[in-house]
Amino acid sequence: MTNEILGIAASSGIAIAKAFRLENPELTVEKTAVTDTNAEAERFEQALAQSKSELEVIKEHARKELGEDKAEIFAAHLLVLSDPELINPIKDKITSEQVNAEFALNEVATMFVHMFESMDNEYMKERAADIRDVTKRVLAHLLGVTIANPSMISEEVVIIAEDLTPSDTAQLNRKYVKGFTTDIGGRTSHSAIMARSMEIPAVVGTKTVTADIKNGALVIVDGLDGKVIVNPTEDIVKAYEDKKAAYEAQKAEWAKLVNEKTVSADNYHVELAANIGTPEDVKGVLENGGEGVGLYRTEFLYMGRDTLPTEEEQFTAYKTVLERMEGKPVVVRTLDIGGDKELPYLDLPKEMNPFLGFRAIRLCLEMQDMFRTQLRALLRASVHGNLKIMFPMIATLDEFRQAKAILMEEKEKLQAEGVAVSDNIEVGMMVEIPSSAVMADLFAKEVDFFSIGTNDLIQYTLAADRMNERVSYLYQPYNPAILRLIKNVIDAAHKEGKWAGMCGEMAGDEIAIPILLGLGLDEFSMSATSILKARSQIRHLSKVEIEKYVDQVLSMPTTEEVVAFVKQTFHIG
Ligand code: PEP
Ligand code: MG
Repeated sequence: MTNEILGIAASSGIAIAKAFRLENPELTVEKTAVTDTNAEAERFEQALAQSKSELEVIKEHARKELGEDKAEIFAAHLLVLSDPELINPIKDKITSEQVNAEFALNEVATMFVHMFESMDNEYMKERAADIRDVTKRVLAHLLGVTIANPSMISEEVVIIAEDLTPSDTAQLNRKYVKGFTTDIGGRTSHSAIMARSMEIPAVVGTKTVTADIKNGALVIVDGLDGKVIVNPTEDIVKAYEDKKAAYEAQKAEWAKLVNEKTVSADNYHVELAANIGTPEDVKGVLENGGEGVGLYRTEFLYMGRDTLPTEEEQFTAYKTVLERMEGKPVVVRTLDIGGDKELPYLDLPKEMNPFLGFRAIRLCLEMQDMFRTQLRALLRASVHGNLKIMFPMIATLDEFRQAKAILMEEKEKLQAEGVAVSDNIEVGMMVEIPSSAVMADLFAKEVDFFSIGTNDLIQYTLAADRMNERVSYLYQPYNPAILRLIKNVIDAAHKEGKWAGMCGEMAGDEIAIPILLGLGLDEFSMSATSILKARSQIRHLSKVEIEKYVDQVLSMPTTEEVVAFVKQTFHIG
């Protein structure tokens, strides 16, 4: 029977394909006594062999589809499974203690993991992560459950998952993964943001897709209207194929603006830039006519691996982005880990409120070696393009001053070493915490620019977790409280002769765009795939006309009134 599930439209487009459930099975290990220890050891050998042949296939697949470096991860896993120092003690335990293979494996592996993790040696810590991973795989075979691997998908599917971590999302192969839908998450969760940059249609925060959709069922993901249709009739499929074609045609219209400047109807120029996560994303920025990179989320360089990236690796990534952007502005944000972006290898304790916890600049000011390595890589790369650096999650002036002082120290050190560093690097900050939006007048005297991070600013201002669909009704970009904070930031910047941009998802939102233009925002940074649509919209708007409405909009009492007014006045939807 056809079933329609509502969710949050996270990435535009329509996908029609079979469901593929991406699940992490429970791997509960119990201790049982065995009498035939030879048979038990044999069962363990079989699980080992199955895991190895599975890893061989995954490795080859990763090499072809994702590149040599991802394939290396699986080569390391294969080595672990052939290591007698790990395997023999497990077999011995089965025989001497007459216990089941699952228990013996878990005990021995846990012992090695703890041992390696406690060593102050990056290489050993990496081995601990490998052991943890392969143990899961062998255990799954012993327990008869399957571990899904997104990089192994080789037919067209729609992914159904409770949640996707950003690194799961990074492994999705666009050729086969036509769309995805999750139980949890919001429009600004990082998997949603990545889906937009990868142009994979997505609907998140449905609450029930994993309960309602069976593997292999035909599914339509409508990322335009936030709907998932399960087991559609032929008529419904036809209707969605038409909707998909209409959307593609609309995109083709927007594409004609790719080489045009972004100017309003009254000839006012604003910059439309893109948010990126990796150097590969630059291709999409240029294809979509981006006038710069307004936010390079460098944390993706640190994710999906077992150790920190070296200065050299980072230098190469930053240089690549700067060179590929050919002198257009590139705003690089220093490491913003925490919240929904974890780095398991830093082994940070779990927190009650990760979004309010030890993250971003707070973490960097404490873990200074890591921070300084990133800053050095950035400074060295600065001579290869138009680099601007900004710090995330600045709550106090003192934090900005400390971060900037460390940057300047590293710059002087490099110069003393004879390394070339650009003299024109602008240093700015993200405004994503209400305290800095309120105090923008004072910050504006010390920064070169602001970039308003509304994804977080909204969650902190309305105290509504951006990942939690149950409070998504409070996640209100057009709430006049947010609009007033934005105005405060833009006005403060302009008063000091500085520029103000926005890199939160709101910058690419068709209802927000007229208001932001009227408020005088200088730079709009968004998913690359939103740029051409935004450019088309701005060409039809007159800044001078909108300015007449700004005070009225900011004094409206509710979000609903703002939305109704904007939609009617600017003919949206
Ligand atoms: C923001 O908070 O608006 C932002 C752009 O940063 P992130 O989404 O990476 O937290
Ligand atoms: Mg943020």
